[in-house]
Amino acid sequence: MGIQGSGKGTQSALLADDLDLVHISVGDIFRWHVKCHTKLGAQVRRLVAAGELVGDDLVEDVVRDRLQLHDWNYGFIIDGFPRNRRQAEFFLESYDIDGVIHLDLPDEEVRRRVLARRLCSRCGMDYNLIAHRPEVDGRCDVCGGDLVTRADDTPDALARRLRDYHNKIDPVVELFRGKEYVMTIDARPDKATVQQTIRSRLGLPT
Ligand SMILES: [Zn+2]
Repeated sequence: MGIQGSGKGTQSALLADDLDLVHISVGDIFRWHVKCHTKLGAQVRRLVAAGELVGDDLVEDVVRDRLQLHDWNYGFIIDGFPRNRRQAEFFLESYDIDGVIHLDLPDEEVRRRVLARRLCSRCGMDYNLIAHRPEVDGRCDVCGGDLVTRADDTPDALARRLRDYHNKIDPVVELFRGKEYVMTIDARPDKATVQQTIRSRLGLPT
């Protein structure tokens, strides 16, 4: 679990690759729908354009369907779910959870990271003016397209998302804390350091 920009997608993918876990990224599932122009994708596109988050009911349906595939040997790591208390309760009742990794990033740092994001308007490649700068300012390294800010990465939209996140997710983390092993990890260092911290906290070789 972690706020937008905390690196939860990256950290989950690193763990999944190495430990042979299925990585279920709720964000990736939605992005796939957008890319493939499904009905769900069109719905998501409208929400994002309006600076809104995808509704909890929609997320819950998507996750339920995905988990029903049951396509893992050793287990799964999920990021982007649960997003509220009700979903967390469903999750705790339905699955055997070994642990919760909570990537902790102060709001100030979220703002700094998210507002530095850029996107190629032609090929969709992601950039970040802090961590992944293009070679030429404002130009995509791959296709030369113009780099733009995402429509939902404005300070106002971000402030709304931060508020929404804390209202919904802080209680979820508290709920897990009462029932499961929750490790809170400082998400400010670079991604290799964060990964190392997670592994040592889990007692895994680093
Ligand atoms: Zn491009």
